[in-house]
Amino acid sequence: MFAKNDILMNNTKSQALYSKGQQHLVGAVNSPVRAFKSVGGNPLFMERAHGSKIYDVDGNEYIDLVLSYGPMILGHGNNKVIEAVQKQVCTGFTFGASTENEIVLAEIVCNAFPGMDKVRFVNSGTEAVLSVIRLARAYTGKNHIIKFAGCYHGHSDALLVAAGSGLATLSIPGSKGVPADAVKNTLIAEYNNIESVKKHINECKDVAAVFIEPIAGNMGVVLPSDHFIKELREITKAAGILLVVDEVMTGFRSKFGGAQELLGIEADITCLGKVVGGGFPVGAYGSRNEIMEMVSPLGDMYQAGTLSGNPVAMAAGIATLTELKAQNPYEKFNQQAAIIEKALLDAATENGIALTVNRFGSMINPFFSAKKITNFTEAQECNTAQFTKFFWGLIENGIYIPPSQFEAWFLSSVISDEDMERIIKGINNAMKSI
Ligand SMILES: *Cc1c(COP(=O)(O)O)cnc(C)c1O
Repeated sequence: MFAKNDILMNNTKSQALYSKGQQHLVGAVNSPVRAFKSVGGNPLFMERAHGSKIYDVDGNEYIDLVLSYGPMILGHGNNKVIEAVQKQVCTGFTFGASTENEIVLAEIVCNAFPGMDKVRFVNSGTEAVLSVIRLARAYTGKNHIIKFAGCYHGHSDALLVAAGSGLATLSIPGSKGVPADAVKNTLIAEYNNIESVKKHINECKDVAAVFIEPIAGNMGVVLPSDHFIKELREITKAAGILLVVDEVMTGFRSKFGGAQELLGIEADITCLGKVVGGGFPVGAYGSRNEIMEMVSPLGDMYQAGTLSGNPVAMAAGIATLTELKAQNPYEKFNQQAAIIEKALLDAATENGIALTVNRFGSMINPFFSAKKITNFTEAQECNTAQFTKFFWGLIENGIYIPPSQFEAWFLSSVISDEDMERIIKGINNAMKSI
């Protein structure tokens, strides 16, 4: 692993802030991935961003392929979004009452997802998914949920689970502080393994919902096989189990709307976050009328939020989605992602490094592995030591990617041909440094 002294660029201010931040923040961060624990060294503190670039406190410039883990799909500082936010900020931050912005964003979102009649806005992806657990239970009158190993659905107790060892299908808490009771109704299946889902459904008649990332992005990018995802839709429907498609990451990323449409499935309930808030804290869940009418005030499933549907966040979401629809960058994303994939594979071959690249639209992931990666077990077998060297190599070359082998790289719509050249050059140099 790189020690901080091995890094050639100047990062003295980041280092100083990292030390100072330890005193009153937990590990100097507010979300653990930002601590760079899996790549060692010191985390970067960012100061500003514009377009495709982000700048740390030491003045180093990077092409941003993190994009705040997805939301900044238009790049940083889009004029239309700034204008909309400024206008709303001057009109009022929050009222604790309904505003027209919420209706406008709801219409945009529902129109983008077939089968979504109504939506409820919340403040994060975590909150969207945890609300949906309750909704699925309220609607079906059943208690168990199924999730896939390696899929992340936020940090709520019932979804912070790990698979028990060996033959035990028992789930175990995925974090200290999660009581065994909170995960005893959560069953874990294997991504791309339909038999593992069928087994649970056959053995447990109390399943309310199956939760899935339509394209997994939190174990690195992992695509579902066509047969797996379609059969999952069929068997859940046949068993009266709701299919909850967590599009917090994928929503508006590979098309305007959700990945589920590209995959040829339709969710019973869809979860959203990240892009939908245009960089502000927004999550959402939506479904057909029959299901959404369970939610308070129409129905008896309680869920609320002081800042939910916040006018400034709604304005950012409206402006972002409106601009995204007008730009329609999805074909360009595919082309640029294909070029990056080829650059990664060519550079790996040239340097005798085993590499597999998974991608879907503007989500890309190089895995340091000779094997195909189709599930969590395979993802975990990659060479993370090589990833760590590659990561720091990219940082040195002015390319900012997530500090983990298991996080997706994202593209923004403002990546220029010149940026692409820099990315490819950076990849070549970084791969050499392994
Ligand atoms: C990011 C993410 C979440 C959690 O969203 P937060 O806003 O971080 O709470 C949930 N599900 C998926 C698929 C995600 O990528």
